[in-house]
Amino acid sequence: MVSCSICGKRACYHRRYSGQRFCAEHFVEYFEGKVKKTMLRYRMLARGERIGVAVSGGKDSLTLLRILSKLAEKLNLELRAILIDEGIANYRKETVERARRFCRELGIPLEVFSFKEHFAYTLDEMVKLSRRNACTFCGVFRRKLLNDAARELGCEKLATGHNLDDEVQAIVMNYLRGDLERLVRLGIDAGSEQLVPRIKPLMEMPEKEVALYALLSGIPASFDECPYAEQSFRTEVREMINRLEENNPGIKFSILRGYQKLLPYLKTYQAKALRNCKTCGEPSSGERCRACLLLEELSRAA
Ligand code: SF4
Ligand SMILES: [Zn+2]
Ligand SMILES: [Zn+2]
Repeated sequence: MVSCSICGKRACYHRRYSGQRFCAEHFVEYFEGKVKKTMLRYRMLARGERIGVAVSGGKDSLTLLRILSKLAEKLNLELRAILIDEGIANYRKETVERARRFCRELGIPLEVFSFKEHFAYTLDEMVKLSRRNACTFCGVFRRKLLNDAARELGCEKLATGHNLDDEVQAIVMNYLRGDLERLVRLGIDAGSEQLVPRIKPLMEMPEKEVALYALLSGIPASFDECPYAEQSFRTEVREMINRLEENNPGIKFSILRGYQKLLPYLKTYQAKALRNCKTCGEPSSGERCRACLLLEELSRAA
C-alpha cells in the first residue's frame, strides 16, 4: 500500500513534482492551505472587501467559491457570485442551475449577466453571423462583461477560478502568437479606473488537484465540455504541455515562474503601448478595444 507522507494511512494522491503522497483528509488540508498561502503571497485579499466571484458551474469556480466562503467570516468578506450566460444551447442551462443550487447552499447571492442582454446576441448567434471562432467572441466579451458586472455590484476585486493549467496554457498560447498585450494582461492585475482588479487564488493549483479536491469535498461540479472547445487552439496547446509535464514533472510551475520573471519587463511595454479605447474607455493597444471592434463587426453583419 502506498501511504500518506503525513499520517501513514492509504494515500490517494501522489504529487510527482514534490514526491509527497496524501490521504484524502491530508490532501484537502494541503490544498486549502496552499490556496490560502497563494492569496497571502500575492496579497490578493484585504479585510472587509466585497469580492465578485466569477462562477461558471464548473469544478474550478465552485472550488474557489467554497474556499472563499470558508474564509469570508474570518476576513469579514462580502461575496457576490457572478455568472456569465454566453448563450450556448444545450450547455449553459444546466450549469447555471448547478451554480444556483450551490450558491444557495453557501448563502452567497448569485447574479446572472447574459451576452444577449448586454451585447444583443447570444454566442451561438455571434458564431452564425461571423466566420470567427466562438472562443474569440467568448473570451473578449466574457472578460468585458465580468468587469462591468463586478463594477456594477460595487466589488473591490474580481476573483476567477483559473488554475495552474489554465494560466500556463494562456502564457504559452500568447508566447506562440507573440501577443504581448495579452501576456501583460495575464499578470497580477492591479486594476485601473476602468478595470476592477482581478485575483486568481487557484493559479498555483494544477487542474488535476482542483478536480480531486472537488471530488473529495463533494462539490457538485460539471465536467461537461463546451461544445465549441474542440475547435480551439487551446486544446492543442494543452495536449502539448501535458506531454511535456509527463516527462518533466514540474514544468508547468517552471513556465509560470519564468513568465513571472518576465512580467516587470512586459509591463514597461504596456505603459508605452496602451491607451484608452475611444468608445468605452478601457485600456487598448489600438484606438478602439477588441470588444468594441467585434461589436461593430457584428452589427455590420446582422
Ligand atoms: S471553449 Fe466554449 S466556453 Fe471556452 S472560450 Fe471557447 S466558446 Fe467560450
Ligand atoms: Zn494522511
Ligand atoms: Zn472599447
